[in-house]
Amino acid sequence: MSDRLSEDVNDVAGGVVWDLLIDGKRVPAGDGATFTVLDPARGTPIADVSQGGAADIDRAVEAARAALHAPEWTGMRAADRGRLLYRVAEQIRRQGESLALLESQDVGKPLRQAKADVEAAARYFEFYAGIADKLGGSTIPLGPGLLDYTVREPIGVSGQIIPFNYPLQNTSRGAAPALAAGCTVVLKPSPEAPLTPLEIGRIALECGLPPGVLNVVPGGADAGAALAAHPGINQVTFTGSVATGIRVAQAAAANVVPSVVELGGKSPTIVFADADFDLAVAGIIGSSFSNAGQMCSAGTRLLVQRGAEGFLDRLVAAVAALRLGPGLSDPDVGPLVSARQRDRVEAYLRLAREEGATARVGGGRPADPGLADGYFIEPTVLTGLTNDARTVREEIFGPVVTVLEFDDADEAVEIANDSPFGLSSYVWTRDLDNAMRLAHGIQAGQVYVNAVGVGTGVELPFGGYKHSGWGREKGLAALDSYTQLKNVCVGFGRR
Ligand code: NAD
Repeated sequence: MSDRLSEDVNDVAGGVVWDLLIDGKRVPAGDGATFTVLDPARGTPIADVSQGGAADIDRAVEAARAALHAPEWTGMRAADRGRLLYRVAEQIRRQGESLALLESQDVGKPLRQAKADVEAAARYFEFYAGIADKLGGSTIPLGPGLLDYTVREPIGVSGQIIPFNYPLQNTSRGAAPALAAGCTVVLKPSPEAPLTPLEIGRIALECGLPPGVLNVVPGGADAGAALAAHPGINQVTFTGSVATGIRVAQAAAANVVPSVVELGGKSPTIVFADADFDLAVAGIIGSSFSNAGQMCSAGTRLLVQRGAEGFLDRLVAAVAALRLGPGLSDPDVGPLVSARQRDRVEAYLRLAREEGATARVGGGRPADPGLADGYFIEPTVLTGLTNDARTVREEIFGPVVTVLEFDDADEAVEIANDSPFGLSSYVWTRDLDNAMRLAHGIQAGQVYVNAVGVGTGVELPFGGYKHSGWGREKGLAALDSYTQLKNVCVGFGRR
């Protein structure tokens, strides 16, 4: 697919159906079903994709089970597995231009953000490549005549279900540690953004990954449900909404297999009056408006200390200056991924008005007639709400920031934690005491103090408290999900 891309970036799929990737082959869905992916900036078709269903998930799991025990995979030395993953990283970088164009057009995100996603995807493979031959165990001293040691074994077939917002990153974030650990994978991308996961599958295959080790089956809820409940998988990694995550975790539990569920958020950004306003504004623009706000970790619940004179005006001015446009034109903010997502955000904007909000900037679809066919929403800052408003408590998943006020660190902690979620948090202050009070008081998997978007973040453990999920992806912590710890106790010299 990437060859065609370089010929015409506006015709990424060129009328060819993007088939499923099962057992190292591109195959149509068993029932021949396809779906059309639309360009979010124009609402026009860009690709037809085979639509996997439950029977295709069966085929993919069967292939992954067979590959798990095939000598090409089990017989591969850990160092060679690592080398293979390094090759995948290298190829992702080499094909980065076409991958970024594809991601930008499929998801709608600004091209430079898609390029950053390419680098993150490469980093995931690179990071876990380096650990493949270091997944050792330990010895436990029991005294004379006993040798006790642990080994880490691959957990088996990993079923992975990912959302639409970061397909390149989420594919790599789940597949790379699983493969490094020696697992095999069946990955189901979102039907709203299935193209780059298929490309990662192709690249891995071309780099020498044995057939069946990484299978990619785009499809809808039925394919996801079939994968989560499949008796042939040994572990589930799910990223998506809370409602779906609960169903997936229940299905996994029914088969007594562990799950990692990375769910939504409504993460607080806390700005103290002593903060560096320029840094804080730039941080909020990055953490709340990148990817049109379609980020689980978006810091869109803004808490501003009373007395932070002029801060909000500066933020509003910066948001008003953001340039909207199709992702490929590399604007500041692109469209939302789909009409469904745009309509959902618009419904929240209507609700916000009912709840008494004032839009200091934005608040609806842009007036520009050139953007009318795309799924655009203006970057928006809402004031006049309280922490019990639904628009403050629920995840909008669009370019919408809500503003609350607080007096001191204690109140900031209280408001920040008065949320069903606990994914990320961002604190802006020059006061060390306030920073540490928040860093240790906030119930969230991630706390950033005077920082946001530090590199690709591949090295950092990532996951949620409360309804934001359980388990950790990224960093070394992710490997716990893809390995089983076996203890071996050997007695000797007893006769
Ligand atoms: P979603 O829950 O609608 O879909 C996620 C995936 O689950 C898709 O592949 C979808 O096809 C599949 N699915 C749908 N119904 C299913 C079912 N019954 N059984 C199994 N699979 C099913 O989420 P979305 O709209 O694609 O993505 C947005 C959500 O993802 C937001 O809530 C966002 O916060 C969350 N998200 C979380 C993280 C994180 O790391 N915590 C990262 C990105 C996105």
